[in-house]
Amino acid sequence: MADKFDVIVIGAGPGGYVAAIRAAQMGLKTACVEKWVNKEGKTVHGGTCLNVGCIPSKALLETSHKFVEARDHYAEIGIEVGEPKPNIEKMLAFKNSVINKNVGGISALFKANGVTAIDGTGKVVSSKEVEVTDHDGNSQTYSADNIVIAAGSVPVEIPPTPLTDDLIVTSTGALEFTEVPKRLGVIGAGVIGLELGSVWNRLGSEVTVLEAMDSFLPMVDTAVAKETQKLLKKQGLDIKLGARVTGSEVKDNEVVVKYADADGDQEMTFDKLIVCVGRRPYTKGVVADGVGVELDERGFIFVDDQCRTNVPGVYAIGDCVRGPMLAHKASEEGVMVADIIAGHKAEVNYDAIPSVIYTSPEVAWVGMTEQDAKAKGVEVKTGSFPFSANGRALANNAPEGMAKIIADAETDRILGVHIVSQHAGELIAQGVIAMEFGSSAEDLALTCYAHPSTSEAIHEAALAVDGHAIHMANRKKRK
Ligand code: FAD
Ligand code: AMP
Repeated sequence: MADKFDVIVIGAGPGGYVAAIRAAQMGLKTACVEKWVNKEGKTVHGGTCLNVGCIPSKALLETSHKFVEARDHYAEIGIEVGEPKPNIEKMLAFKNSVINKNVGGISALFKANGVTAIDGTGKVVSSKEVEVTDHDGNSQTYSADNIVIAAGSVPVEIPPTPLTDDLIVTSTGALEFTEVPKRLGVIGAGVIGLELGSVWNRLGSEVTVLEAMDSFLPMVDTAVAKETQKLLKKQGLDIKLGARVTGSEVKDNEVVVKYADADGDQEMTFDKLIVCVGRRPYTKGVVADGVGVELDERGFIFVDDQCRTNVPGVYAIGDCVRGPMLAHKASEEGVMVADIIAGHKAEVNYDAIPSVIYTSPEVAWVGMTEQDAKAKGVEVKTGSFPFSANGRALANNAPEGMAKIIADAETDRILGVHIVSQHAGELIAQGVIAMEFGSSAEDLALTCYAHPSTSEAIHEAALAVDGHAIHMANRKKRK
């Protein structure tokens, strides 16, 4: 038997690496097992998020956005740059350098905090033992008083579109295209499909997004979703709703996709196809039979509100358990579990987890939508404000979008904030903080905001909840 630890974490994504660092900071002897190796065969920390998820997608979204700004918008504001050209090789090199910096940062943090990094594939073989098989196939068993499973998720594949080496790919392949596909198909108008569709649309692809559902972004407030759909359409994204992909055929280096919509069976031909139909938990084989950790039929590990599995001392966090598949949700659960193991009270407020779609403009939201509130019979009042009436947004040449606040009709407590705008992903933090502190819309309305700032649109939306936005025709006379 090798070393004994207080905590062994399996997986070094944003759930696992954060749990390990926090546990070590709490004075617990901690190890983190990671199996991911890069193209050079070196173990890399950071999981999906740093290697093939949040970070590389944001690097490409930012570079492609800057390209569009230069191509389409600099001249409007008096900057003449000639005709800019994307250099895909350099963009990918930039993206890879961003990944490497982030990944290297985790290893440095492990060292600084005294987390033992173990390379290899971990398997829970009893409630107090993890067997690790290294990349040469050698196994060693480590014991621990507590085990945290943070094994993450992988892309869902669907039978109609079996993946190929480079024509039909998942989000991972779409971060690596070495040239701009002329015709790009995207299956799924979820967060990842819209982000990656946007990247390649900006760089010159004709993008068609095929979405089985009839509604667009049903998890977002309807008014904000409508505005987003309009803006993405204007940018050239052809989003076909009610279009269920039923088959595909690869021939002559092209992909023919078959789909069914209200008009019957349809067909489209693409140079590349990205399958973005969701992610599934990556839990197969992580726990040996006989340990008794319960999984549901889709492979998610059953946990309670505090991420305890049914086996005492074994916890599970992040994408491999219920809840939104988001990096910050995984990290918050990691902190909570480490604190609980260290003997502290801890919880995650699942009602105040923000979501962001990093399109341009960005879409960000937290809490209830107006349609959620109606469905639950909660009486609400709402306030909206357009960025076209915000001085800073106009000065930024980014007047698109709106902010909307949903508050309880009786108590005025903020129940949800929904934004589509430039930097909505930054602005949403105000909504999250307000909800964490149980603020009323009036609390935000009575707060002094810096001028000029796009945050003022949130202020105005809060004022509008009571019908008194300053920079908008008012609905009511103040008593
Ligand atoms: P993961 O990040 O998947 O990490 C799990 C780790 O466990 C991996 O490193 C894996 O190798 C390791 N592992 C698994 N099994 C074992 C084993 N048996 N032994 C050892 N190691 C093991 N989320 C956001 O919040 N914001 C975004 O902008 C965002 N953008 C995204 C863009 C894309 C293209 C994708 C694909 C995802 C994006 N996500 C985003 C989602 C985000 O990446 C995940 O929610 C997050 O990575 C989940 O963290 P995790 O720690 O639970 O799992
Ligand atoms: P998300 O789960 O947010 O990543 O979004 C995935 C999207 O893919 C969902 O909106 C699904 O409705 C959509 N989807 C799943 N299967 C298909 C399919 N066969 N054809 C078209 N869209 C699909």
